[in-house]
Amino acid sequence: MNPFVLVAGTLLAITAAPYVAFLGLYAWMRPSGSPATKRPAEPTVSLVLPTYNESRIVEAKLDDLLALDYPMEKVELVVVDSSSDDTREIIRNYFTKLEAPDLTLIEEDERRGLAPALNEAYEAAEREMVVKTDCDSKLPPDVLLEAAANLADPEVDAVTGRNVEVLGGSEVESGYRGVQSHIQQLESHLDSTLIFHGPFSAFENDALLPIDPKSLADDTELALKIRRQGGRVVFDPSVTYKEASHSEFVKRRTQKDRRAMGLIRLLVQHRDALGKYRKYGKVVLPFNWWFMIASPWLLTVTLVIGTVGAIIQFGGFGLALPVGVGLFTYLGQRDLLGPVQALYSLFDTQVSLLRASVELLRGKGDGTWDVDSELREAFE
Ligand code: GDP
Ligand code: MN
Repeated sequence: MNPFVLVAGTLLAITAAPYVAFLGLYAWMRPSGSPATKRPAEPTVSLVLPTYNESRIVEAKLDDLLALDYPMEKVELVVVDSSSDDTREIIRNYFTKLEAPDLTLIEEDERRGLAPALNEAYEAAEREMVVKTDCDSKLPPDVLLEAAANLADPEVDAVTGRNVEVLGGSEVESGYRGVQSHIQQLESHLDSTLIFHGPFSAFENDALLPIDPKSLADDTELALKIRRQGGRVVFDPSVTYKEASHSEFVKRRTQKDRRAMGLIRLLVQHRDALGKYRKYGKVVLPFNWWFMIASPWLLTVTLVIGTVGAIIQFGGFGLALPVGVGLFTYLGQRDLLGPVQALYSLFDTQVSLLRASVELLRGKGDGTWDVDSELREAFE
């Protein structure tokens, strides 16, 4: 065997080792449900909704929030709006006919970005449980009760949930979310999970902290800081939501690459947390470093060395390797891979993470983004 093939094989084995270990841990622990000691609770709630030019969908979002199975006298809605369209007029009109919930509308004169807007909203939120939800997501009626039941565990300071239906029907995203849900359950049972999701995250008001105004991973950053402050932050698969996503390779890149950038930068900023905070810093964070930062580079190097090796070994037929990867991508983005579609989803995520590291190394990754209008269509 030529040395290139040998090196590529070794690299692949090294890349895979932590995943195999994690899979073993999963099989051994068989985590299911939330690790919290859940009990029925009905705290007062601040619903935090950030909006930027959401006039097309904001009314449907408000209908959805009002349909939640919860005593609305206990709820306040805190909207922070940075729009240049008539989103805030729509919201104000909507509330003129309503007794409850209470509305606090923070009107920004200009768009400064999501993180500064959220800091303002969290500052204004006064109720016991603070729930952050994105405008382009749908929540089931029981979601507040499920979240409150988790926070009733005195150890637990934050809870996030599972995407049960990808609006717009992207199988790539559903496949990835399925795998991610198992990972996040294991992490939560070990100690706490890393990633918190924009469509639904709930926090103890007492535990809230300011986030970096440049953050591109605001929900996850808040959870990470709460964990560092001593509270447990968990994923509960019974807490559910629906969010829109694309399947196509190019369309996926914009949103996925930005989210990946936010997460990588957050991990790097909090590198001093590695090894601390029990299994959170000893297992959960290292695993995420491996998945988000090490693997994408290792896989790229493996592919390049493997292709060189295959060409040396088999001449022109060696190109079958990169061509195969191309074909995999072509079929995957069209949701045509059947049983291995979930594997493609992981590959797609690795592509975003690689591109995100490159962008970060080039000094990119601050500020604001265009709200995706096609995804708003999927919401309608
Ligand atoms: P994505 O889901 O990660 O692609 O992010 P979105 O574009 O859907 O934005 C998430 C939520 O934040 C939506 O409710 C947006 O309306 C809102 N949002 C985005 N940017 C800003 C901003 O600069 N200011 C405020 N107040 N809200 C924003
Ligand atoms: Mn969104």
